[in-house]
Amino acid sequence: MPRLKNMDFVLASRNKKKIAEIETILKASGLSEIRLLSLDDIGFKGEIEETGTTFEENAKIKAAAAAALGFIGIADDSGLEVDALGGRPGVYSARYAGEHANDEKNNLKLLKELQDLPAYKRTARFVSVFALVCPSGESTLHDFTVRGECEGVILTAPRGSGGFGYDPLFFLKSHDKTFAELTPEQKNSVSHRGAALRQFVYELKKLGVR
Ligand code: IMP
Repeated sequence: MPRLKNMDFVLASRNKKKIAEIETILKASGLSEIRLLSLDDIGFKGEIEETGTTFEENAKIKAAAAAALGFIGIADDSGLEVDALGGRPGVYSARYAGEHANDEKNNLKLLKELQDLPAYKRTARFVSVFALVCPSGESTLHDFTVRGECEGVILTAPRGSGGFGYDPLFFLKSHDKTFAELTPEQKNSVSHRGAALRQFVYELKKLGVR
């Protein structure tokens, strides 16, 4: 298999923190020839509508937008699945509390919906999916998706100040802590996103990326 060199990947996101974090993890995994560009770096001005009903569909839609411009596109989609809510908010996690949702409103809505529910019925999981979509003509790589999951329980009140989103309500029995009480390194070692990224790196290495 040919050894691929100096690969530019476009991460279909404008979140500079997310891009820097993912690039750091890829480099720390030994993928030194990858350069991660953002949608802004390639002059993409449009909005990408996340119209999918699964994490896989949405990640592929976002990565395909970069691939349509001739770049190797990668994208992630993630969210929280609560068993007592039949898997909601799922792909709608960011907009759970409506159009003007934010982390605080989403968490309040979740606490309200789970009010009076006993601990054993408050099980949930975070899901993260990464997709890679190749532009037409790319012959050394192929499209794939990977998925990471992390099981936890939704508390009745927030705990901790780290992280973002639903982290203060997401309790990990193994650590006796919420995601918001973990250091970034601890969270990465157990999180859905960490698991998906490690799988992503494994798949890239199998394809000859260094
Ligand atoms: P997206 O993958 O950037 O679309 O994120 C979807 C939403 O899922 C976020 O806005 C959060 O509400 C939630 N979410 C995803 N990952 C995490 C996490 O690691 N901690 C807390 N909330 C998360």
